[in-house]
Amino acid sequence: MKIYLDFEPCDQCKTIMSELSDEKMMFADEKTRTDESAKFLRHLTYNHSEVVQAVLKDLPKQKRNQEFDFFK
Ligand SMILES: [Zn+2]
Repeated sequence: MKIYLDFEPCDQCKTIMSELSDEKMMFADEKTRTDESAKFLRHLTYNHSEVVQAVLKDLPKQKRNQEFDFFK
């Protein structure tokens, strides 16, 4: 499932996102990748709470749409 985030990433966001998409991260072990994702989520929670709110609001809606498609 893809979630589209409509927000302005700050400098720290951009740093973390480029770290996450860096080649060395692709080959890092699972713990390192999990730590890095957790760091990004923590940053979003504390600095961009509106993003977290939007994701939480969107999730049930997307799920309903999927179920609707499934039963058609
Ligand atoms: Zn940020």
